[in-house]
Amino acid sequence: MKHSKFDVIVIGAGHAGTEAAHAAARMGAETALVTLSASDIGVMSCNPAIGGLGKGHLVREIDALDGVMGRVADRAGIQFRLLNRRKGPAVQGPRTQVDRALYRAEMQRETHEQENLSVVIGEVVDFLMDGSRVCGVKLVDKSELHASAVILTSGTFLRGVIHIGDVSRPGGRMGDRPSVKLAERLDGFNLPLGRLKTGTPPRLDGRTIDWSDLERQDGDEDPTLFSFLSTSVVAPQISCGITHTNARTHEIIEKNLSRSAMYGGHIDGVGPRYCPSIEDKIVRFADKDSHQIFLEPEGVNDHTIYPNGISTSLPQDVQQKYVRSIKGLEAAEILQPGYAIEYDYVDPRVLTSSLSLPEAPGLYLAGQINGTTGYEEAAAQGMVAGLNAALAVSGREPIHFTRADSYIGVMIDDLTTRGVVEPYRMFTSRAEFRLSLRADNADQRLTPLGIDIGCVSENRKSSFCNKMEKLTAAKSTLSEKTYTPKEVRSIGITINQDGNRRNGMAILAFPDVSFDDLVPLIPNLATVDLDIRQQVERDALYANYIARQQKDVEAMKRDESYEIPQDFDYFTLEGLSSEMKQKLSQARPANIGQAGRVEGVTPAALTLLLARLRRGQ
Ligand code: FAD
Repeated sequence: MKHSKFDVIVIGAGHAGTEAAHAAARMGAETALVTLSASDIGVMSCNPAIGGLGKGHLVREIDALDGVMGRVADRAGIQFRLLNRRKGPAVQGPRTQVDRALYRAEMQRETHEQENLSVVIGEVVDFLMDGSRVCGVKLVDKSELHASAVILTSGTFLRGVIHIGDVSRPGGRMGDRPSVKLAERLDGFNLPLGRLKTGTPPRLDGRTIDWSDLERQDGDEDPTLFSFLSTSVVAPQISCGITHTNARTHEIIEKNLSRSAMYGGHIDGVGPRYCPSIEDKIVRFADKDSHQIFLEPEGVNDHTIYPNGISTSLPQDVQQKYVRSIKGLEAAEILQPGYAIEYDYVDPRVLTSSLSLPEAPGLYLAGQINGTTGYEEAAAQGMVAGLNAALAVSGREPIHFTRADSYIGVMIDDLTTRGVVEPYRMFTSRAEFRLSLRADNADQRLTPLGIDIGCVSENRKSSFCNKMEKLTAAKSTLSEKTYTPKEVRSIGITINQDGNRRNGMAILAFPDVSFDDLVPLIPNLATVDLDIRQQVERDALYANYIARQQKDVEAMKRDESYEIPQDFDYFTLEGLSSEMKQKLSQARPANIGQAGRVEGVTPAALTLLLARLRRGQ
């Protein structure tokens, strides 16, 4: 090891850890990434895919701040699909299936090439303390690393227990030991801990699947990439298979429910409602006689198939039986059984919006340890913790992402003010300002912030500035002149015949009008690049909504910051249910914004509270 003194130490090189370490290092902090083994960097514990609805937005935002997940996924992507393609851009979610080995290799390459970043192999077993302040870590070989900030991203490894049917054993994930010593050490901080669970399906040998009769799913012809810097797909592209469970599958699972770890009473942790195991689906959606399964290749040169949709904690013999009841899988061999994993998480309400822990200054937590599930949620938190740790080390103010500027802000706010009752994953429905928080404009929202704090490379900065120059020029060409509906109709575009004059941006706000349609009216537009045309179209389409939303954001900001005295007596507030009064009394929100995020508090209740505060209690 070259040094034992760093600015920032990151524990764990999963998705949160790598993004945290890269962010801190990009900010100029001398950073150590401590991992049990070098090959753990970039490991995908479950599905070989990045992005999706809500999650794709997070990846774009990570990329806008020059994070690594997006560009690595682009290089390792073997099937790109834009989900919700037929709906509006605000709710479209870029997703790619990746080659698992390639993703890992590319993430390792990025990590080794990153300046200011050293990879340290070892197991962290203890924190070094200076009074109540965390000032480093101790490894299992007794060596010590010192730093002003430590970011813990240990995923499912804290007291992890793997369940397959009634067989349970300690494990951080299949093939890895859990982090028991570190979990015991965390107990010393008296943090509120909970238990969650997640699961993964059995992996199948693709050579034993009969693909001949199965429906195929191809990627998009014009792939939507994650990184604003990527220009084309690199890896060979594949298609997936689609099959379904049937009455026989359901019968096998129902008969053996009591043998599943979940239903046999071996698991206490709460699982992800939105990503249920196959046994959960069969119990909860008893009226459905079939569930779809995507058969996703884990790589171009890998015959492992990930059957998306049948994660399970049933015993291995039952897994074999139900898998073979499914069309195309009659002779399928299981390469690795499905399993459930239960682990400790820290109630994220103890964290600040920088993801730091006030009880232990210098310590930050990011990723699955905070009760989330998913690579993207983990990476986005890693970014927040990494940037803030580096800012703190250099004595600068923390960076605060808000619900109005990003999905990252939505997630951090949800976690730190509402907490979690089940593994938290991102959805577009969680963002009240989703019309302005689009995946396509993540760079416009966040790259200036990144340039400002110094986490963005020169290359990205110049590419962004160049794009913004072109975008601004195209928009000003469109805004220069106004046209009557008659003039607009003369080039074959029909808009409201209300006699109002409109400029090009306003005409483009009509859903059926394209940029190309306007070129005959405004010939200077003919030289505008294709990507700029598409971006202007999307920005124009949402411009009116966003102007309205901006007013809501301003009103929200005004009201949100309205302070609530800490001794406010909620029980004297008429019109609130006793449950709401109790929850608010317990949560003691500091302002209206926080009160609105207390579970179960309605907008009507907030109006009453605000009115009362304005009257002076
Ligand atoms: P991880 O990716 O788990 O990384 C943690 C890292 O910390 C590991 O590399 C580990 O080696 C390291 N580490 C732990 N302790 C120490 C220590 N003491 N010293 C040094 N290093 C340490 N997500 C979904 O979105 N959908 C799913 O269906 C899904 N299913 C899952 C099924 C299973 C079985 C598992 C295990 C995970 C699943 N996930 C799923 C979750 C997804 O894998 C995680 O959300 C994501 O990997 C979390 O990232 P992370 O960085 O927080 O943790």
